[in-house]
Amino acid sequence: MMQDDNWFSERYYYKSVINGYKVKKVLHEEKSQWQEIAVYETQAVGKLLTLDGKTMVSDLDEFVYHETMAHISSMTHPDPKKVLIIGGGDGGLVREFVKYPSLEEIQLVEIDERVIEVSKEFFPNCTSGLSDSRVKIVPTDGIKYIGEFENYFDIIIIDSTDPEEFAEGLFTKEFYSTVNKALTKDGIMMAQTENPFFDEYNIGDIYKNLKASFKNVQAVHAPMSIYPGVYWTFAFCSKGINGIALNSERIPFMSDLQKSLEWYNMDWHKAAFVLPNFTKRKLGLE
Ligand code: SAM
Repeated sequence: MMQDDNWFSERYYYKSVINGYKVKKVLHEEKSQWQEIAVYETQAVGKLLTLDGKTMVSDLDEFVYHETMAHISSMTHPDPKKVLIIGGGDGGLVREFVKYPSLEEIQLVEIDERVIEVSKEFFPNCTSGLSDSRVKIVPTDGIKYIGEFENYFDIIIIDSTDPEEFAEGLFTKEFYSTVNKALTKDGIMMAQTENPFFDEYNIGDIYKNLKASFKNVQAVHAPMSIYPGVYWTFAFCSKGINGIALNSERIPFMSDLQKSLEWYNMDWHKAAFVLPNFTKRKLGLE
């Protein structure tokens, strides 16, 4: 919630660092069954969605995050048909996945329906894909839901809040092994895995949990201007598929699609997997 007239500020890294955004208008504030939800019109990043006082989505840079996870996974899987997104209530990932006519099913498992409803009202650009007939919205806890599936999904994306409270279980070895079980043999999982500099959530342990559950664990980095420390990581996990091996049959499709994308292109895709020493060491991916 607003801590100061005309400013929204987020304290992070054990509340020892602060980001501030000059607010032109408070567009929405509520407390759902799960969290505080707010939307601000800001001077610097356009509309800004926050949950429990943490930045989630902004007009300025939401496409970086959503295009990174949707297109890296879709461009490496040999023939994706079924996608599961856990979290992602802002709809941005669904908007990107529905651009693939070959997909048959996109399940959005978001614990807090109010995030979807608020996003529909204030971020129609993000939620534009939710009306696609292939999309199934499941308002429940993804940790419990995923246990119902085995050898079913081709791509699973964990688009969650930080590893706290009802999202904490989305970063455990147990959860990642249920993800592995729910994936098909060529299955791919991607997840947002925080910032290795302001490492409040012990990114090394997150990657230890991933490596205990998947044969192949890689990471991608990209800048998220509104997230703590900007420098963001995303895990790419599979039973063998290499994240930089583009599906050659899909290259003509992406050569055209990427002209309309704001972030992703196939050259950047490969470059995004090239990590500096610091990040490799922090993630245990040397
Ligand atoms: N892009 C944002 C980021 O990286 O911080 C997150 C996008 S989205 C708004 C995060 C969503 O995860 C929230 O709407 C939250 O309700 C949802 N979420 C957290 N834990 C969940 C769980 N266990 N099952 C389903 N959804 C969950």
